[in-house]
Parts: sequence; structure tokens; C-alpha cells
Amino acid sequence: MKNTYFTPGPAELYPTFTKHLQTAMDEQIGSISHRSQRFRDIYRYTDEQLRELLSIPASHGIYFTGSASEVWERILLNCVEHESFHAVNGSFSRKFFDYAQSLHKFAHMAEKPFGEGFDAADLEVPEYAELVALTHNETSSGVQLRPTEIHKLKRKYSRKLFCVDMVSSAPYPDLDFSLVDSAFFSVQKAFGMPAGLGVWIANDRCLEQAERLQQYESMTIGAHHTLPVLHKHYKTWETPATPNVLYIYLLGKIAADFNKIGVGTIRRQTEDKARQIYRFLETNSAYTPFVAEERHRSQTVIVAQTNARPAAEVIAAVKTAGMIVGSGYGTFKDSQIRIANFPATTADQVGALLSKLNE
Ligand SMILES: *Cc1c(COP(=O)(O)O)cnc(C)c1O
Repeated sequence: MKNTYFTPGPAELYPTFTKHLQTAMDEQIGSISHRSQRFRDIYRYTDEQLRELLSIPASHGIYFTGSASEVWERILLNCVEHESFHAVNGSFSRKFFDYAQSLHKFAHMAEKPFGEGFDAADLEVPEYAELVALTHNETSSGVQLRPTEIHKLKRKYSRKLFCVDMVSSAPYPDLDFSLVDSAFFSVQKAFGMPAGLGVWIANDRCLEQAERLQQYESMTIGAHHTLPVLHKHYKTWETPATPNVLYIYLLGKIAADFNKIGVGTIRRQTEDKARQIYRFLETNSAYTPFVAEERHRSQTVIVAQTNARPAAEVIAAVKTAGMIVGSGYGTFKDSQIRIANFPATTADQVGALLSKLNE
């Protein structure tokens, strides 16, 4: 029997994945040169599909990395001369901050307790911070930072570069890229692919900053895949090194499938399924939604306290029915479960999970 994965990444594969993988094998995508016209066509196609899906304007390039966490390092090296600012409310936003410290940036942070979220009004960005690092969806705690708050904050601090980790939510958040300078995600979460590709969206302001640091400040912006080098190759639909051609191809195909459904429909379906899950958690005494404040509740990674039994028992029980839910993060392993709500799982599958959780 096949399992259904409600884990927050790696996650359930998108239903069309296998078909596209078969086509890729039939077309021998694994053997083509990354300096060939065939590859340039693939890069351009994936770029077009992602642009349509996320409404990315011409001011922003779309670059490929090995993972999302690699982008943390690239952004900090390329876009921060001295100071960065981080809104930290869980393990992933915390790691972004840790990377900044490791790279000897002067990193500021505002912090919320685990399970609480930010609104724009909570955040005071220090005067000399050049980059504001925000996490749209904290995968560890199930907290979201709504795009309206991100946009409001950017309007207040318009001269600073804003970058958004949308790793465990894209394509759900409706970001306005006239206000978001950079965003990034990896494919093993809501895009329903196996892990192995990161996507970095960055605008001309990020590029100018990287060029300035390199040329006029004589700073190192790294050796591997600097933004100016990524962009130079991007202009001819190429990459500096041999990329994951197969995954770039598959991502384009899955983004096209999302576009056929329409991103508005996907976002609505995500909200409908999230509502179904939160309603269940609120009305069943064996569970409580971990995030108290409704507006901070993630729509794509839902964290529940297990009141009646240890989380491990709940996870084992639903597993017997072929459903895999995530464990709580870190010290919350014993008392919480995490349910991913990505496009790969249907409302019917969510219904089946909830009726098993009800037993
Ligand atoms: C998974 C995740 C990352 C790291 O992604 P990798 O692809 O493992 O590097 C970063 N941020 C968030 C919010 C995540 O959920």
C-alpha cells in the first residue's frame, strides 16, 4: 500500500511528478549538455512558468541553487555590507540569523516566543540594517507572516532590501514583487518534488548591491555562484556550473500544471483545506492548534498539540492507515504533530486523515 505523506518536506509528491519524470527519461534529459539550446529552452520555460505563477516582474531574475539554505548564505554575502535584520520566530528564521553571524555580519534580530508571530507594527528595523530577512512560513512552529504585513513593513523601510523565505509555502503567499526584492524556496515542500533544487528570485537592486560590494568595497561576496555571475549566465539562459537539469525541467512542468489550475484556485484550495484542519483541531478535545492567534496560523504547515496521547502514538496510529504526519520540531517532538497542507494532497485525503485522527 502506498502512503500519503502529510510531512512538511520532503512531502507527498505532486500527482503529475511521475509522468513528467518518465517523459524526461524518454527525452534523455539526464544526458543533455547544459550549454545546449535544449537546456536554454528548458531554463527559459521554467522561468516563464514561475513568473506567471508568482507574478514575478522583469526586474527580478530567477536563479537556481542546490537548496534554500544555500540561498541564506548567498543573500548575506551578496547583499549585506555590514548589517542585517532578522525577524526570528522559530528554527528556520533563527538559522538565517545564525548564518549572518557566521559570515561576520552585524546581525540584529527581533524575536518572538515559539508559536507566536509578527505583525508589521511589532518590528522596528535598525537604521543601518541594509537587509530585512523575513520568513513567510515558519515550518518549525506553524506560524505565518502575512504578505500584507510584509508589504506594510517594506513601505515603511523602502530603502532597505527585503528578502522573504517562502520555502514551505510558495506558491501560496501572494507577494508583491514590486515591494519584495528577493525571495526563495526549495522544491521538496509545496511544489511536491524530491529535494535537490533551490530557487532564488532577486531583483536589480540586489544585483547592484552585490556589484558595488565587489567592485568598490573590495569585499568578498563568495567564490561560488555570486549573484553577478549567476546573472551573467542567466542572460543567456545558462548557469555557471552544471546544474540539476532534470529538476529544472520537472519544476517547469509542475509550475505549468499549477498555472493550468490557476494560482488563485490553488491558494483558495489551500485555505479551504487549512480551515477544515483547524476547525477539526478546535472542536476535538484530543487536539489544540498550537498557534493561538488566528491571523498568525500557517495555511501550509499546521501544528497541533496532542492532548490525549503522546505525539509518537498519534503518528504511529495514523501510519497504520497509510498516512504519515510530521513530528513536532525539536523539543516539541513529544507533544506536537505537524500536518503539511500542500497542493499535492486533496481535500478528500485531508478528510481521511482527520477521520483517522478522530479515532
Ligand atoms: C526547509 C526549509 C528551509 C531549508 O530548505 P533546504 O532546502 O533544506 O535548504 C529553509 N527555510 C524554511 C522555512 C524551510 O521550511
